[in-house]
Amino acid sequence: MKILVIEDEKKIASFIRKGLAAAGFIVEVSHRGDDGFTLATTRPYDALVLDIMLPGRDGLSILRNLRERKIGVPIILLTARGELNERLEGLNLGADDYLTKPFFIEELIARLHVVTRRAAGAHQSILATADLTMNLLTREVLRAGRKIELTVREFALLESLMRSPGRVLTRAQICEQVWDYNFDPGTNLVEVYIQRLRKKVDEGASRKLIETIRGVGYRITPPP
Ligand code: CA
Repeated sequence: MKILVIEDEKKIASFIRKGLAAAGFIVEVSHRGDDGFTLATTRPYDALVLDIMLPGRDGLSILRNLRERKIGVPIILLTARGELNERLEGLNLGADDYLTKPFFIEELIARLHVVTRRAAGAHQSILATADLTMNLLTREVLRAGRKIELTVREFALLESLMRSPGRVLTRAQICEQVWDYNFDPGTNLVEVYIQRLRKKVDEGASRKLIETIRGVGYRITPPP
């Protein structure tokens, strides 16, 4: 999961970055409100950790603007003790949660899990293309009504592809999303898993949904 942290206090930002990275998150940090806002509107994140008092642009203005643009990314506000009005305003503007500084990193991690899970459930619990559907809540996968049993990694791989049918994912992107680690060009892990997935999803079907884009990566055939 990819998290954007917008926090100008370098010590706190680095404490958050280290803690979240150790917990397996991919973390980007911005020390300014204006730069952070640009990142939040141009790149995909699974959640934002947003300080309120920031140089360039304050956290509440960032929050308001993102929600006005219908960017629904989960946002956890970082507030200072005593910022009660800001906290309430933040929740009214559509923040998902807040934490008062100082806090334990475990608390932030737990809340990130809650808000991202909630967002996934609220926005897209069913992914579908052609006659293939995956239910992310029940983890049921169906092809033309036939049930497909997948392992945890196979499911994660299919989910990555199904999140945007037609978009090509490189092996490196797949590695990062499915295995949470940096791509080792020497491994054929992705190929092996793609083969397994093909066997389960495409074998016997008249239309093959998992495509190889030569020299680039893989994608799920987009709907016609
Ligand atoms: Ca600050």
